[in-house]
Amino acid sequence: MARLVMKFGGTSVADIDRIRNVAHHVKREVDAGHEVAVVVSAMAGKTNELVAWCRAASPMHDAREYDAVVAAGEQVTSGLLAITLEGMGIDARSWQGWQLPILTSDAHASARILDINGAELIKRFKERKQVAVISGFQGIHKDTGRITTLGRGGSDTSAVAIAAAIQADRCDIYTDVDGVYTTDPRVVPRARRMDKIAFEEMLEFASLGAKVLQVRSVELGMVHKVKIFVRSSFDKPEDIDPHGTPPGTLICDEEDIVEQQVVTGIAFSKDEAQISVRHVPDRPGIAAAIFGPLAEASINVDMIVQNVSADNATTDLTFTVPASDYQRSLDVLGKSKSAIGFDRIDGATDVAKVSVIGIGMRSHAGVAADAFKALAGRNINIRAITTSEIKFSVLIDAAYTELAVRTLHSLYGLDK
Ligand code: ASP
Ligand code: MG
Repeated sequence: MARLVMKFGGTSVADIDRIRNVAHHVKREVDAGHEVAVVVSAMAGKTNELVAWCRAASPMHDAREYDAVVAAGEQVTSGLLAITLEGMGIDARSWQGWQLPILTSDAHASARILDINGAELIKRFKERKQVAVISGFQGIHKDTGRITTLGRGGSDTSAVAIAAAIQADRCDIYTDVDGVYTTDPRVVPRARRMDKIAFEEMLEFASLGAKVLQVRSVELGMVHKVKIFVRSSFDKPEDIDPHGTPPGTLICDEEDIVEQQVVTGIAFSKDEAQISVRHVPDRPGIAAAIFGPLAEASINVDMIVQNVSADNATTDLTFTVPASDYQRSLDVLGKSKSAIGFDRIDGATDVAKVSVIGIGMRSHAGVAADAFKALAGRNINIRAITTSEIKFSVLIDAAYTELAVRTLHSLYGLDK
């Protein structure tokens, strides 16, 4: 017998038929003797609709009321799944974040989980084999008693946090893909599903725009050592052996991966914009003058490249921001022009970031150099490069994204 968290995303609970399909997945695990806590998202598209309603009601709405509205999507699906399970003769009860409770910070719309009380769930597992159906995405701030939400995609984080709180043996993330791939299979049809990936690598994938998991859920899993298993909710529930190993990707400690490859996968994002601030004075405080105002405007700056000044007087600074923040960034910098003292700003939105990820890079030299050579062989110009211990990223013209990804995917032997 194991204790499992089963998390189902929006497409998996998009309508009553799919909720019934989810209920069959749950029944399979219950019948196998497992203790089960289910975490559900809102039906696909519902959260977007609720967000749009808030904006329509007032563009400047209070984040506390936004949370009151958007938490409703998960309330509906948890109740519906509990009803469906009960109808199949399975003892089940729904739980809202405030009922457990899931205590969070008061950062409305992007709250952090502080503590979860899983005692009542465990008691009910033991006493009556009751399935807990928990609304993802939401919690409560203790002092104010107000409902909070965890930021878009937050149900993943709810699931991993609950798994840690009830000491689950595994947190299964059921989604519309059957695992984590070496890159997007729509771009590289030969992309492979990975059997295992280390937390650190998955953190990079998630941060770099692979939409499988919310970044915070991976961080939490890493800290609490929760085994996270990404698998498909569209596999037929009756075809799955609850004691076997289903297809999927296990996110785990790097020590649990026997055959570690140097490069694990390629991530990319076209959702980038490049900003170059030209001829800024080369003296202390300039980076702060540029990035301070951007940070205050909550603009997430990513790749930063500063030239070494040639004349000891001025230099250029290039960085990237999310494409959606491009115009706002230009406005913010424009306002600080006299404080920064730049000559002009060049920008581009038709750029893409391609990143190569792998823990093995820590101990292998020349991994990036191989990539630069391969990209040059395809006549792909690199605008900027950043590196960290386990990944490097290149900024290129967006038109070459697919070619670059395919080239690197074969270069590192990731094609099946
Ligand atoms: N329903 C929320 C969203 O769409 C949370 C989630 O699905 O994880 O962002
Ligand atoms: Mg999601």
